[in-house]
Amino acid sequence: MSLVVVGSIAFDRVKTPFGERERLLGGAATHFALAASFFTDVRMVGVVGDDFGEEEFEVLRSRNINTEDIEVVKGGKSFFWHGEYGYDLNDRVTHDTQLNVFENFDPKLSDGSAECRMLFLGNIVPSLQSKVRSICKNAEFSALDSMDLWIDTARDDLIEAIRGVDVAMINDAEVRQLTDEPNLARAARKIMEWGPRAVVAKQGEYGAAMFTKDTFFALPAYPLESVIDPTGAGDSFAGGFLGYMDAHESHQLNDDAVLRRAMTYGSVMASFNVEEFGTERVHRLTHNEITERFRQFKRMTHFEEIPLEPRLHSK
Ligand code: AMP
Repeated sequence: MSLVVVGSIAFDRVKTPFGERERLLGGAATHFALAASFFTDVRMVGVVGDDFGEEEFEVLRSRNINTEDIEVVKGGKSFFWHGEYGYDLNDRVTHDTQLNVFENFDPKLSDGSAECRMLFLGNIVPSLQSKVRSICKNAEFSALDSMDLWIDTARDDLIEAIRGVDVAMINDAEVRQLTDEPNLARAARKIMEWGPRAVVAKQGEYGAAMFTKDTFFALPAYPLESVIDPTGAGDSFAGGFLGYMDAHESHQLNDDAVLRRAMTYGSVMASFNVEEFGTERVHRLTHNEITERFRQFKRMTHFEEIPLEPRLHSK
């Protein structure tokens, strides 16, 4: 079992209606790896500056995440993102993005990472996603995330990267934007024609929907009464999803029931992620809490089929 994630590792400044934090451990790869670490062995591939210290590495290592392929650039500054959410937590404004060492990121994979079984290509330049995909030749299962910036500026490269993965896991608005198709089901079908066998459309506080060639599955987000910081929910979702998949044998990776449970574990991990700022909640999560919330998802979405009595027409 081995799962590699490549993506941003960051310091985030985040403001929500419930508070503000100046410097949170963040980045797509960070949120993904912490969530996935509850299911399997995870390796992170990324770049940081030397402002990324022992305290930050310790959060990752305390969850047994392999940080060997996190390059530390001497004298460099880590990627920094500053975002703000209003009461509609699906809607966020980016105030500042400082790429810093991330600007010249060229992923370097050790042999251990190159031989991974599972791969998640976080939101980075699409051509780098394709490069990492081709290095990890033997990956049995791979997924990718992206963002509007790459749809606008590197659409062809993004389509090329999507061709190489099993699952495209992107926001619903981006699924539509990428395909120029307003209907989500048709848009997902179009993406599957490029190569992936599934499309997972993330829908923020409304949950996530999975399209495969023959099936459809959707889950609402867990109905939390207190959402503090939605940053990284999508990456935690992906971490739960791929982490769970890695606990399966090769012949099960196509099994619809396994994919549905992966959707559920993804939703579970995303729901914990948003309960507190940054990585705080997931960092101190327990397996029992994950199992309990998984059961609640089952109860929440279960209903019985009772045949409808024929209606008697009275004249
Ligand atoms: P999400 O909420 O899933 O979109 O991911 C949030 C994480 O993405 C934050 O922790 C940010 O540090 C990181 N992030 C923000 N903008 C970018 C970007 N342009 N490229 C890569 N990562 C980013």
